[in-house]
Amino acid sequence: MIIVMQPHASAEQIAAVVSRVEGGGYRVHLSQGEERTIIGVIGDDRPIDRGQFEALDGVEKTVPILKPFKLASRDMHPAETLVPLDGLKVGGPKLAIIAGPCSVESRSQILETAAAVKEAGATALRGGAFKPRTSPYSFQGLGEEGLQLLAEARNLTGLPIVTEAMSEDQVKLVARYAAVIQIGARNMQNYALLNTVGQAGRPVLLKRGMMSTIEELLMSAEYVMAQGNGRVILCERGIRTFEKYTRNTTDINAVPVLKQLTHLPVVVDPSHSTGKWEYVIAVAKAAVAAGADGLIVEVHPHPTEALSDGGQSLKPEKFAQLVREVRRVAEAVDRTC
Ligand code: PEP
Ligand code: MN
Repeated sequence: MIIVMQPHASAEQIAAVVSRVEGGGYRVHLSQGEERTIIGVIGDDRPIDRGQFEALDGVEKTVPILKPFKLASRDMHPAETLVPLDGLKVGGPKLAIIAGPCSVESRSQILETAAAVKEAGATALRGGAFKPRTSPYSFQGLGEEGLQLLAEARNLTGLPIVTEAMSEDQVKLVARYAAVIQIGARNMQNYALLNTVGQAGRPVLLKRGMMSTIEELLMSAEYVMAQGNGRVILCERGIRTFEKYTRNTTDINAVPVLKQLTHLPVVVDPSHSTGKWEYVIAVAKAAVAAGADGLIVEVHPHPTEALSDGGQSLKPEKFAQLVREVRRVAEAVDRTC
């Protein structure tokens, strides 16, 4: 349930409602808009008699939130949530362009890629040090050494780091290096991991599971938020369908649907969602046209030699072309990049 206060309700009236909610054993989520304050009641609020709140001074009305996600819901928090990524606010007018290799492979590879994506206009550097691979015999990532190389690249370029934690025991270590901790598609419903990143003190980039619904994605965001971390960026990275020409199917619909359902920023990964570098620029433009707040794109200086996801990685010059083309679409939808 949310309690909508009257416009210009006094601080005392708001405090009285908050203390009544907390007195009932519920948690409060305050959303202070320009016009009015919305008080979210967090917990199983089905037994609440809404009338008792409607009778309090300064309360305009109460509205039940019927959706299973609460903190993530736009009803609870009508304004956009802006997630800080270094100087950028993801969800604001300027698009987040997160780019870099699938995996950190070597010092020269990550430094060369970081310099190139920075030059082309990226706002953050991606690169996996812990890699969720389908086969246990495939390259698993450089681990902490990979994180150290990312830090070196960040120090040289100024680009903040987005990198994945695959398990609870990696979260503290990854948080030491990452501006944003990525939770991969395969871990979207690893609830213990979601609870742990919810307490890690870092924004989270939560990728949609390849067979997860939009509602399941939002319920996973809710796990992170319920731990007190509201800084969640949602990522559409393609879902599995019967189509075989592409690795996954980009659910472009998810962008406007999510923008309607939630206040959290939404980015699209055209690399994993297509699986082929030839389609990445087109899908990146489609994502921005549909209202995405940013992109996460794989870039490799020598894709044919990549240890993971080479076939979907753009060469630096193609990434520069992507940024140029996306910029024109961004302008058409009143965004910048
Ligand atoms: C990745 O970003 O390299 C990755 C493994 O993505 P996903 O979890 O979306 O498959
Ligand atoms: Mn990848």
